[in-house]
Amino acid sequence: MARSTSAKSGKTLQDGFSASTIFEKDQGITYKDFLILPGYIDFAPQDVNLETRITRNVKIKLPLISSPMDTVTESRMAITMALLGGIGIIHNNLSIEDQAAQVERVKRYENGFITEPIVLSPKNTIADIDNISERYGFSGVPITEDGTLRSKLVGIVANRDVDFERDRTILLSKVMTTDLITAPKGISLVQANEILRKSKKGKLPIVDKEGRLVALMSRSDLVKNREYPFATKDEQKRLRVGAAVSTHPHDRERIDMLVARGVDLLVVDSAQGYSKFQIDLLKELKKKYPNVDVMAGNVVTREQGDALIRAGADGLRIGMGPGSICITQDTMACGRSQATAVYYTAQMAAKHKIPVIADGGIANIGDIAKALAVGGSAVMVGSLLAGSKEAPGEYFYENGVRLKKFRGMASIEAMEGGGGAKRYNVEDQKIKVAQGVSGAVVDKGSLFEFIPYLMQGVRHALQDMGYRDIPSLHKALHASKLRFEPRSLAAQAQGGVHGLYSYKKPIIGAE
Ligand code: GDP
Ligand code: GDP
Ligand code: 5GP
Repeated sequence: MARSTSAKSGKTLQDGFSASTIFEKDQGITYKDFLILPGYIDFAPQDVNLETRITRNVKIKLPLISSPMDTVTESRMAITMALLGGIGIIHNNLSIEDQAAQVERVKRYENGFITEPIVLSPKNTIADIDNISERYGFSGVPITEDGTLRSKLVGIVANRDVDFERDRTILLSKVMTTDLITAPKGISLVQANEILRKSKKGKLPIVDKEGRLVALMSRSDLVKNREYPFATKDEQKRLRVGAAVSTHPHDRERIDMLVARGVDLLVVDSAQGYSKFQIDLLKELKKKYPNVDVMAGNVVTREQGDALIRAGADGLRIGMGPGSICITQDTMACGRSQATAVYYTAQMAAKHKIPVIADGGIANIGDIAKALAVGGSAVMVGSLLAGSKEAPGEYFYENGVRLKKFRGMASIEAMEGGGGAKRYNVEDQKIKVAQGVSGAVVDKGSLFEFIPYLMQGVRHALQDMGYRDIPSLHKALHASKLRFEPRSLAAQAQGGVHGLYSYKKPIIGAE
């Protein structure tokens, strides 16, 4: 961007301050305390690309991560987040098997080639299809001679073969379709999709020369890919998902199981991540699973973050105390003002090319844009997404308002469930000190409308700053080209809605 100069003096007309002037002070600040000065616009909001890297190897299309909290991220939230271009982290206030099953549900939701399809034999019954349907949500099952993958394909059973059958004990050999369109092993995804499209069948089994089943394809995946072209996917076109784990030795089994189910990202969930436990775990994980990215944290200082990066962290989660349900700073006396924490850690981590994630305290679109502007590669949010249709839990009414439960993972209530206690290191203690509260948030409707709205807002914000993408925003930040200005309390009040008798609140924004 060309910078204007004063006609008289020839000096650049550069208002505001660099980030270092604003943040390297004796007082920590957060998002509300400052504004970013607008830049020059020569592009439309649609031209803003929000793609970002959240760990060494995981890229997402939108800078939004749903937090591993038991009232925020289970499989439905994670599927929605990934379909829309973000990613969800499944919480660990669950048994190992339940958390792994949630991960599997996300990984199975969309596919290119389904390389591990559920298979049955002709001797199984319709009741077995019912069980699969209940557990996984699909009922298209290839039938092989002995009921295993890589055995000879003899038929396929789809929902329409069994839906009106009253007797569920009937053998599949009686109902399966046997004249099959198949494709040969080694076919490309593009070619296989073409056959699937033309065949008008729901499934396309892939077989080797001997007619043994090697994979399956589903027509519904073509539809999902068309409807969600920006979904966050792995190389096999499966949705990406993360999962929270603790540093406790007995969680090693959890980690093994999550990795076996295909988790893309492990998030070491700890309120104060600068510990021997976490450093040891990181070293161990990097050795055992070099291909699984690990997001470490939480940290708020450069010293903490640097230690975790040196131990192998692929990304850092930043925040101690800014969360909406959080009472850590009041209870533990430790923490850091969030914008300051993100600024310092991002500056340090950029030297290692490791992204930092601004976790907690995001209340509106402006906060997301500011978190990115001070060096965050994405935001992690809890309360913003809690209360949506896709968050766990049922709606209830209080004073006529439709609400959903939302609670801190270190609230007494969540700690009694087990997961929160691990995060906050109080699992084995008789007296548990809460670092969070439990409460409720209002109904936000569906994230399929809410997230596109949020992200369009962020595109407008980047446009106003004059940057087309997050890497160029960060470049400007580090080169002191991005200009900041602190806001007085009066300016903050003026920056919000004021002086009206009444007004209609937008979907998000005016608190
Ligand atoms: P690339 O960037 O060129 O690799 O484009 P994509 O990865 O989006 O798509 C490559 C091919 O894979 C295209 O023919 C897509 O239609 C197809 N494809 C993408 N995602 C899926 C999916 O989830 N399932 C299936 N079956 N095909 C997909
Ligand atoms: P169905 O017709 O009842 O099998 O269900 P759909 O075709 O509507 O949806 C199946 C979805 O589940 C697709 O997105 C598949 O990629 C996905 N899926 C994941 N694993 C499997 C599997 O083992 N078998 C089948 N049939 N689908 C699977
Ligand atoms: P929010 O987006 O709701 O402002 O903040 C969510 C973040 O708060 C989570 O990602 C997590 O880092 C943090 N958090 C979740 N539960 C608790 C808790 O009980 N106490 C504290 N101190 N932080 C929490």
